Amino acid sequence: MGQRKIAERMLEAWKRLASVEFDLLCCAAEIGDPHEIALLLRIPLGRARRLQEQAVAMERLPVLAGLMRDGLLDLDRFEVVRKLTENLDPVKARRVDARLTGAAELNSRELKVEVGRLVCLVDPSGAEVRHVKAVKRSEVRYRSMPDGMAELIAYLDAVEARRIFDQVNADAETLPEDGRSWGEKQADVFVDRVLGSGRPVTVRTDVTVSARTLLGLTTDPGYIAGVGYVDANLAREIAAQGDWRKVLTDKVGMPIGVGRKRYRPPKALRDFVMVRDWVCQAPGCLRPVAECEIDHARGFASGGATDERNLGPFCDVHHYLKTIGRYRFERDADGIRRWITPLGFEYETRAKAIAEPDPP
Ligand SMILES: [Zn+2]
Repeated sequence: MGQRKIAERMLEAWKRLASVEFDLLCCAAEIGDPHEIALLLRIPLGRARRLQEQAVAMERLPVLAGLMRDGLLDLDRFEVVRKLTENLDPVKARRVDARLTGAAELNSRELKVEVGRLVCLVDPSGAEVRHVKAVKRSEVRYRSMPDGMAELIAYLDAVEARRIFDQVNADAETLPEDGRSWGEKQADVFVDRVLGSGRPVTVRTDVTVSARTLLGLTTDPGYIAGVGYVDANLAREIAAQGDWRKVLTDKVGMPIGVGRKRYRPPKALRDFVMVRDWVCQAPGCLRPVAECEIDHARGFASGGATDERNLGPFCDVHHYLKTIGRYRFERDADGIRRWITPLGFEYETRAKAIAEPDPP
């Protein structure tokens, strides 16, 4: 009896969740700006954009949106239908939607099959047009994972993707039994195919590591731009390969500014700011500094100085948001950075220390 009650409670919670998700989408549609949403909910910008796409999709999928509002369909299943109908014109998408009144009874796999069938029914001649639209959104994405791993996700033409997958498996089959798992072999041949077995390093790796770690005095982790933290040994190894760029020691001897004398910071000052900040200074953004522009927090024309207190890196997205005046940015003398959104929320950040503090 107890278990039965718990199961009923679980179902109730599940239904509440679905209608809460519906509320979230309604709000996302109203707010519009994905940057504001990402900061508010502490979610990545990509996820905020996805929320908005889902919110917009509610208009062309009103039956499903209604099921979600009533707690009968969760966002994951809504997303399945959104994805499968996103390349249909809105009228045809509505036709698919109109036939999905029973969607609540289907799990996500059944729904995928059913929607696939309906899309072919309402748009029998549109397969090619839909494919061309989908190809436009091809991409390769990088997602860092724990323990020094990452996922490389490729969204490709299905035939080519299948060819790559079959080729990887065929290559992996030829490897000897040497204790590597099947997955490891697949990964190894994949890397060999893309980078070549000689693996010449043509992509520069920016590793930031304290001098003490480099000398083996501490085991503080290093940081690789676009990857994240790596353990001291790996950081030392990459630094030893010579394709590294910077070592942080301390501020001693570093220039801290040229005041109002010039707009463009001299190279040493730029280097210092880049080492100090190492990622875009907008809250939540981790774009490596190598892909950023050094920006005057207080514009040079309005009296801002060219010194370390007023300079910091912005990626192109955040630089644009600041330049067009939608978002305001301030940097105070203590290095605290304030990012003020159009809705009036303030987010404070400061540059993260690269090395652990010196022991007393
Ligand atoms: Zn940024």
